[in-house]
Amino acid sequence: MSLQNPVFIPGPTNIPEALRRACDLPTIDHRSPAFADILHPALDGAARVMKAQNAEVFVFPATGTAGWEAALTNTLCPGDGVLAARHGMFSHKWIDMCRRFGLDVSQVDAPWGEGIPIARFGEILRADSAGRIKAVLATHNETATGVVSDIAALRREIDAAGHGALLLVDGVSSIGSMDFRFDEWGVDVAVAGSQKGFMLPVGLAIAAFSKKALKAAKTATLPRTFLSLDDMRAGYAANGYPYTPSVGLLNGLKMSTQMLLEEGLDQVFARHARIAEGVRAAVAAWGLDPCAVRPDLYSNTVTAIRTPDGFDASRIVAHAAEHYGMAFGGGLGDVAGKVFRIGHLGMLTDAMALSGIAVAEMCMADLGLDVPLGSGVAAAQRVYRRGDDNMKVAAE
Ligand SMILES: *Cc1c(COP(=O)(O)O)cnc(C)c1O
Repeated sequence: MSLQNPVFIPGPTNIPEALRRACDLPTIDHRSPAFADILHPALDGAARVMKAQNAEVFVFPATGTAGWEAALTNTLCPGDGVLAARHGMFSHKWIDMCRRFGLDVSQVDAPWGEGIPIARFGEILRADSAGRIKAVLATHNETATGVVSDIAALRREIDAAGHGALLLVDGVSSIGSMDFRFDEWGVDVAVAGSQKGFMLPVGLAIAAFSKKALKAAKTATLPRTFLSLDDMRAGYAANGYPYTPSVGLLNGLKMSTQMLLEEGLDQVFARHARIAEGVRAAVAAWGLDPCAVRPDLYSNTVTAIRTPDGFDASRIVAHAAEHYGMAFGGGLGDVAGKVFRIGHLGMLTDAMALSGIAVAEMCMADLGLDVPLGSGVAAAQRVYRRGDDNMKVAAE
């Protein structure tokens, strides 16, 4: 195809040209010093982006799902209790994985559109005086519903309950685009994937482990081979992997973390906050509601938009693909057909966001929804414009 639109699926995300080139390497010997010059800056860069300076970072040639598996199998034993909320497709799937590993899941169901029910978690942890629960699972950013949960508050709740469970966090669709503070928030394992905030092709699972999580790894008996931290650490110590690494992707990770750190993490997060605010302004101008039920839950990397009752939201996604060559996210699981999603994580500018808003608007108008052309675009433009007049308006 000679035309290329940006994608608005919440992963994989748009890949900057510099990163496409960084991943496109001729074969090098993955046991040579040249590989060490890729590996260690990539691991160090990932630790900086996660604000995980007191942690050990491991990168597997895999995807975010393997990151979940690495988090569980390296820290837990069969039959261990875990506490998790089901409030979207990703939290649902992580819980499903726990069950397949024979973990004993205390599942708290929350409405899709809500965040992690932190107070309820506190009650459950306080009642667990025997310490049956070994890990609390948290999906920082529920990509299915566009809901962000407060990980720092969850840590405070665990501490206030005096409970010793590990805090395992899925940061796949937040890390690199939204503020994430591994050390400061007291996270024990955080999981990310190359194809979301890191702006790379799919193929790397990136996971940080705290000292407490590494200690748990010494006695954890769930089987792991490919995802073994011990094997991986031995590999890193010899500047290599226990198997063949994806050298090109790791070089991409080295470059992508450099790019994020050079832009400045605060600037990256501010850019995503601004882009998201423009998308939400458009949603309001369309007379629609986000799936996230309260402003403090609004994600800055993906907005799930509820369509009117009786309208199948998946038609918007199909129509955009067929007629405008643009990709949006559909509704998953409990909200299938009820929402469509605009992904706005990774490499994205205001101008790119405007193109997605404009096409979403055309699709809705084409399909007979009462959405005036230009309404959402104009609302987002008012958020994005930075000319003199706007400064004046802002100052008034
Ligand atoms: C994308 C995503 C995953 C799954 O990652 P894969 O790389 O597709 O395995 C897990 N959790 C969240 C929150 C995600 O957005």
